[in-house]
Amino acid sequence: MEKKENCKGCRANVNVDINSIEALVEEIRNNSEFDVVSSEVYDNRLNICKECKDFVYGTTCNQCGCFVKVRALLKSSVCPSYKGDLWGH
Ligand code: SF4
Repeated sequence: MEKKENCKGCRANVNVDINSIEALVEEIRNNSEFDVVSSEVYDNRLNICKECKDFVYGTTCNQCGCFVKVRALLKSSVCPSYKGDLWGH
């Protein structure tokens, strides 16, 4: 059984089904209102997140609370690390 752990801010369960996140990513990709990065930039950003100490629950950036798969997709996004933008912008 999945461990239930709640967000300290909003009390929602922090463990989100990866399929729900993938569905959101697809929705954004298919919506022309969103400006998204190339596959190369996207993969590069996600690889950096996976090595980051602020990557938590296998889904989330601990600095901003965003799902990294969503944040990394948007062209206007930057990495919110206090050390500076770890994505290298
Ligand atoms: S601090 Fe930056 S590199 Fe680390 S998980 Fe968040 S967005 Fe990714």
